[in-house]
Amino acid sequence: AHFQPQTLPRYISRTYAMGHSVPPLSDKSLLKTQTYVNGEWIDARSGQTFEVKDPSTGKLIGTQPEMNREDTEAAIRAAEAALPGFRAMTGRQRSKLRKWYDLMVENADDLAKLITWENGKPMADAKGEVAYAANFFEWFSEEAPRTYGDTIPATVAGNRVFTVKEPVGVCGLITPWNFPAAMITRKIGPALAAGCTVVAKSPGETPFTAAALAELAHRAGIPKGVVNFVTALKNTAEVGETLTSSPIVRKVSFTGSTGVGKLLMKQSADTLKKLSFELGGNAPFIVFDDADLDVAVAGAIASKFRSSGQTCVCANRLYVQKGIYDAFATAFADKVKNFKVGGGYDEGVTHGPLIHDRAVSKVQAHVDDAVSQGGKVLVGGQKMPDLGANFFQPTVIRDMTDDMKLAHEETFGPVAGLFPFATEAEVVKLANAAEVGLAGYFFSKDVQRCYRVAEALEVGMVGVNTGLISDPAAPFGGVKHSGFGREGSSLGVEEYQITKMITLGGM
Ligand code: NAD
Repeated sequence: AHFQPQTLPRYISRTYAMGHSVPPLSDKSLLKTQTYVNGEWIDARSGQTFEVKDPSTGKLIGTQPEMNREDTEAAIRAAEAALPGFRAMTGRQRSKLRKWYDLMVENADDLAKLITWENGKPMADAKGEVAYAANFFEWFSEEAPRTYGDTIPATVAGNRVFTVKEPVGVCGLITPWNFPAAMITRKIGPALAAGCTVVAKSPGETPFTAAALAELAHRAGIPKGVVNFVTALKNTAEVGETLTSSPIVRKVSFTGSTGVGKLLMKQSADTLKKLSFELGGNAPFIVFDDADLDVAVAGAIASKFRSSGQTCVCANRLYVQKGIYDAFATAFADKVKNFKVGGGYDEGVTHGPLIHDRAVSKVQAHVDDAVSQGGKVLVGGQKMPDLGANFFQPTVIRDMTDDMKLAHEETFGPVAGLFPFATEAEVVKLANAAEVGLAGYFFSKDVQRCYRVAEALEVGMVGVNTGLISDPAAPFGGVKHSGFGREGSSLGVEEYQITKMITLGGM
């Protein structure tokens, strides 16, 4: 196929997608074809494997064990056996998690290469993810010795009341492919800080980063059975059902789509597990007339197009007030025109492929739907077959209306739809009309409005005059159909603890 500059944004990088080789890992032992259970590298009992492909080229990266119910049960038993010894350690001893952090930092380049290989995001983004992911281990290694209870003045004379925090027990963790390292460390970090042992289901699309993290856990001296990884693609639902129905597993933490979250919640009902769900978003991104245009454009670029639009906190609906609409649309589209799309290893590439062809089809459907109802494409709008099956042009569409699919469904791709609005009351109503409520963003220089709108948005996280909100020290999570529970911060540890109250009488 020939390069067609007239239909593509400029400066497209094709070399990697056209067969450029993957840079070798400095430490080849980080690339595993087995998975890590009870301190050992193992295959599935059945001997079955599944293939993992590079989303940029479609080429095979390697295989991983296709585990089933029995394999998962064995991993759960390993975590159960490790629990008494691990929970008995002091928080200070468990803060050896710090060693795992150090090893992530030492091996950051190799981890980033693995992330780019199986997820597709550009190396610069992958390196950023490794730093972010490692920070969860650093942060929670510091939290581990500080999980305080309370001393409570009793209302009954002669009683002394206090609380202690205890680990909830064995945890089942399920994470998605869009942050192959960070979604895992954000769960394992607080679980280990609290004294829990875990069985983590690796994402089927990105299991190699998870396996490399397991290797580093081993090197860090995390005791055997404390951290176990189960891998599956075809058997994903079976593994999920095993984790959610096991009476040994006391907690399930899931990050992924709302639909799967609801299924896992139903499956967990019979054993009444403690649950944390970080589910889908459909973030409103609001630009008021009084915003700083450059700041708002920069925020929209970061929030909408990071990881090619495949983050749960990505701006999905960009509402721009009428007075600033044309200026914003022009400045924003100009920036998007200068993106460099290509294979993640290529120098200067800013945006990689989507994860698979289903994602591309969804993005195309949202664009076609908008165009058929009067949306005007300012940039992009097409697939990029010259680069590979999973590439889609970064796209900006103006004159969006509330009837369009993009207004109601999470696109999870590189498409920014610009919706005009007139008043603050109108836009808050539109923003809150979504069933989900994960992140929301707005841009304004009016301090009263900043408080008012931040308080009015029905979301778990608000970015005011910024498009980037993630921080290990800050609680991350949603409301409504975006789920419940918080990750990061001291609240992140509480998700893996129970509060036990002790009353001492007869004083
Ligand atoms: P998904 O729900 O299909 O899959 C997520 C993970 O769950 C994967 O590892 C998958 O293997 C596993 N899974 C799928 N079906 C399962 C089942 N029946 N039992 C057990 N595990 C199962 O989601 P996806 O499309 O891969 O990821 C994108 C979605 O995740 C988006 O909706 C996005 O908003 C959401 N997400 C949310 C957050 C957050 O923090 N709220 C972060 C990242 C992604």
